[in-house]
Amino acid sequence: MKSLKQLFERLENLYDEMVDIRRHLHENPELSFHEVNTPKYIAEYHRNLGHEVRTEVGGRGVVAKLIGGKPGKTVALRADFDALPIQEERDVPYKSKVDGIMHACGHDGHTATLLVLAKVLNSMKEDLEGTIVFIHQFAEEQSPGGAIEMIEDGCLDGVDVIFGTHLWATLPTGEVHYRSGAFMAAADEFRITIQGQGGHGAQPHLTKDAIVIGSQLVTNLQQLVSRRVNPLHSAVLSVGAFEAKNAFNVIADTAKLTGTVRTFREDTRDLMEREMERVTQGTCLGADASYTFDFIRGYPAVMNHEQETMFLAEVAKDVPGVENVKETEPEMGGEDFAYYLQHVPGTFFFTGAKDPEWEIVYPHHHPKFSINEKAMLIAAKTLGAASLTYLNRKTTETKAAVNAN
Ligand SMILES: [Zn+2]
Ligand SMILES: [Zn+2]
Repeated sequence: MKSLKQLFERLENLYDEMVDIRRHLHENPELSFHEVNTPKYIAEYHRNLGHEVRTEVGGRGVVAKLIGGKPGKTVALRADFDALPIQEERDVPYKSKVDGIMHACGHDGHTATLLVLAKVLNSMKEDLEGTIVFIHQFAEEQSPGGAIEMIEDGCLDGVDVIFGTHLWATLPTGEVHYRSGAFMAAADEFRITIQGQGGHGAQPHLTKDAIVIGSQLVTNLQQLVSRRVNPLHSAVLSVGAFEAKNAFNVIADTAKLTGTVRTFREDTRDLMEREMERVTQGTCLGADASYTFDFIRGYPAVMNHEQETMFLAEVAKDVPGVENVKETEPEMGGEDFAYYLQHVPGTFFFTGAKDPEWEIVYPHHHPKFSINEKAMLIAAKTLGAASLTYLNRKTTETKAAVNAN
């Protein structure tokens, strides 16, 4: 397709701008639900391109619309823009200027990718058959996230398909990872307080030792994944904190356990919540202690739609810079892109962003996290190619694809 060649060339010509935008955002990170200047910057950029722009969508989101010269379908592309409460430990010229806040997940890169892509698609709008909606989402890092509110505020109105990517620093640059169905997990949190009865370390018979009960509970909970969950339906249960601090000769009155549960299926998720409470109840009953149990639901699993996922994988194979398009295993991390996929067909994929020169690869959310900026160009080309290819397909063909979901 002639337009794809043009898209790739124009993106390459604007690579430096992409880097500049990413570094500007990296220097000025803002926390989830506290984004002020980032959405302003994004809205301004789209306004300068002449796009229809809505701000404060669902709170702090920005939605911009590029209407093509010819009628057609509507494609949505989503990028998140929040940062994390982490002190950056890398020494780079564009290091975060804000103490204790850092873009440690690559959302600065997502935003730069989408903005420059918007500019290039805008330059091709005469021949564009349809509409492209740019969804700039706030607060991805913190549940309940920005997606639900943005959807309620209409960001998906009229949208036929949605595509999104995450720059993934642990995968080599040049790789695109896709998967139909479960792609990322539901991420939930639990908090359990055991109320025993404290006392003197020398008189255990007069107490209900919260540490002993809590220790049993940690062990009993581990049997849920091995003995309650269908082995073909994955689940993870991790106790992240066990708090019961006392002097060496004091028996603990209370113990607090907090942790996370990851699942891919809603029925497994329900089962984990139900059985965890049952095990907590049983363990405490046996020791004559009481408890409180809270299961706080985070994002649901990201469930990619098959037709759109296979479409994306096909498109990615012909993107310059992409050397390997791989079907991947599901990832246990969470993402609120899940909500968009509950409303419209689409797919979420990983764009490898590991720099071949790195000796150590720091994972996402690490104080030394970084991305290979070249990966932004690959992400922009892939998202842009998916959009143009989707819009240029014959209407009947597109309809069939969507209906198949
Ligand atoms: Zn993150
Ligand atoms: Zn992220």
